[in-house]
Amino acid sequence: MALIVHKYGGTSMGSTERIRNVAKRVAKWHRAGHQMVVVPSAMSGETNRLLGLAKELAPAKPGDAYGRELDQLAATGEQASSALLAIALQAEGLDAVSFSGWQVPIKTNSAYTKARIESIDDVRVKGELNAGKVVIITGFQGIDEGGNVTTLGRGGSDTSAVAVAAAIKADECLIYTDVDGVYTTDPRVVPEARRMERVSFEEMLEMASMGSKVLQIRSVEFAGKYRVPMRVLSSFTPWDIDLNEEARSGTLITFEEDEQMEQAIVSGIAFNRDEAKVSVLGVPDTPGIAFQILGAVAAANVEVDVIIQNISKDGKTDFSFTVNRNDLAKTLDLLKGEVAPKLGAAEVLGDAKICKVSIVGIGMRSHVGVASRMFRCLSEEGINIQMISTSEIKTSVVIDEKYMELAVRGLHREFALDQPVDSLAKA
Ligand code: ADP
Ligand code: ASP
Ligand code: MG
Repeated sequence: MALIVHKYGGTSMGSTERIRNVAKRVAKWHRAGHQMVVVPSAMSGETNRLLGLAKELAPAKPGDAYGRELDQLAATGEQASSALLAIALQAEGLDAVSFSGWQVPIKTNSAYTKARIESIDDVRVKGELNAGKVVIITGFQGIDEGGNVTTLGRGGSDTSAVAVAAAIKADECLIYTDVDGVYTTDPRVVPEARRMERVSFEEMLEMASMGSKVLQIRSVEFAGKYRVPMRVLSSFTPWDIDLNEEARSGTLITFEEDEQMEQAIVSGIAFNRDEAKVSVLGVPDTPGIAFQILGAVAAANVEVDVIIQNISKDGKTDFSFTVNRNDLAKTLDLLKGEVAPKLGAAEVLGDAKICKVSIVGIGMRSHVGVASRMFRCLSEEGINIQMISTSEIKTSVVIDEKYMELAVRGLHREFALDQPVDSLAKA
């Protein structure tokens, strides 16, 4: 008998028919003798629908101004799907109980719309499991110190599931979704993308942080920190397939790196259309400039990603960085209003029409010339690179958004990611 967490995404919970299928699948696992905790997302489209209603009422900057109420609102999506799943499980003859984040409780900080989990109390969950029940816990949400409902950012149910798995020391966390695993890149953009049987934790972390939305980055961070075995698999296989076959399907996120993994120079390609570029032109090239610009941005709770500073000319330099697109207006207001006048900057520019494309692979540690191969491939496609950033196992470029698909497809071909794994070593 094992203790297992299942997470089902929005599409997998998208209709009563699909919820019934989820219930039948969970019942199969429960009847096989496993203790089951299930973390569902809201039914597909529901979170967007709810946030859309808020926007109709308050179009201007809802992110910050109405954060508390947005969370109070959006959290209902998961509350509904969780209760529906409990009802479906009871209709299957199982004892099931659903809890909202606050009932567990899942404690978070108070950063509305992007809260972080701080602790999870396992007493109530363990008690119900020991009483033989299937426990359903809403994804995406928690409660802060002041008793306010919070949400964990889009895609946050992945993080709820892994954090719950860590808290109750589950044997495995299975993320059921609308694709049958983690692919070399988003299969909706590159149809030739290949499913990976296994992906190293480090690569998954980079892929997620570079924009692969198959897993929310924080879920991978939790899995790494608490060593939660994690698998991504399809919820669209027939619910009654053999349990052992199902348990081995999809993609395993593994903490062990083997030789074959290192042979592949690039394992995956990620892209992110959610960023925007900010440039502060003509600032004095003196110590403390980066801090004065980025310190002010950080103080406004805006996360900064790729940063470049140009070489100086006549004692002046240009400084560029990327932020989330939702934070662009706020960042520009801040820089134009306070920072630029203080520094005597010539101009502050914003560009939302960019995207970041990244190649990721632990093989990059031991192979040289990978980045230049990427740059050559992009130049052959006629794509101009605006910014570059690298780490040990990834190289990212910021390019014009309109070339995103061209770049991803070209790079996928260049690094032979559509080829079977054996031939990757030669790629
Ligand atoms: P869920 O609602 O189940 O959480 P998501 O839409 O959040 O599902 O994540 C699954 C989607 O992630 C897939 O439908 C796919 O389009 C996208 N995706 C992006 N990158 C990848 C990748 N490398 N491998 C698989 N899917 C990916
Ligand atoms: N329902 C939330 C969203 O749409 C959380 C999730 O699906 O993971 O972002
Ligand atoms: Mg998701």
